[in-house]
Amino acid sequence: MAAVLTGLQSLVHDFLALIYPEHCRACGGELAMGEEVICSHCRIKLPFTDFHLHPKDNLLHQVFWGRVPIQLATAFLLFQEKGRVQRLLHQLKYKGQEEVGEVLGRWHGAALKVQPDFSSVEVVVPVPLHKSKLRQRGYNQVASYAKAVAAALEVPVADDALRKNKLIRTQTKKNRQERWESMRLLYSIHKAELVHGKHVLLLDDVVTTGATVEACADALLQAGASAVSVGAIAYTL
Ligand SMILES: [Zn+2]
Repeated sequence: MAAVLTGLQSLVHDFLALIYPEHCRACGGELAMGEEVICSHCRIKLPFTDFHLHPKDNLLHQVFWGRVPIQLATAFLLFQEKGRVQRLLHQLKYKGQEEVGEVLGRWHGAALKVQPDFSSVEVVVPVPLHKSKLRQRGYNQVASYAKAVAAALEVPVADDALRKNKLIRTQTKKNRQERWESMRLLYSIHKAELVHGKHVLLLDDVVTTGATVEACADALLQAGASAVSVGAIAYTL
């Protein structure tokens, strides 16, 4: 019976795909039979960084030098304006296309799984959204990516380890130190027991200045994480 149902389901799926073809979230072209979320052409053309092959010395790792001790740093893709990566992230963040995060997370996770450095990771922590933002969007755009990476690494996701606090806006112009202070207050630990004594892989969608990651990593280390590594879907040069 189950086999019949599965056969029926796939028949219905194929039929629907014929009437409403799915489109590639990177180029907008129609997906061919058997293609999922991102077309084969885009999959070949994506700008991979290969940072995970040298996770202790790459452009993303260097972002944190002198700021916060980061064990390993990996970003799957290079962010390019008006390029495929920007379109993918736009779909993930603003169009409810959580499957983009899932596909990229599975792919990135598989690459990390065979890299011995990452075998010491014990828990995955996604950068949190503020609860009002979460209500508004309905999902954290990092969640599906984090879940897929964690599944590939066979470790749990601690999505409530960190909390994003309410941003207090002030009229006064802040200097560098004050900006860092307010950034640091933006993220705090919520459930320290989930990360205490553990090697945490902190995940975000895009890393640009590294300020968010720095604030989160700082909170995790203060909560007793034994080490913090960083992973992202994309890195902006
Ligand atoms: Zn495509």
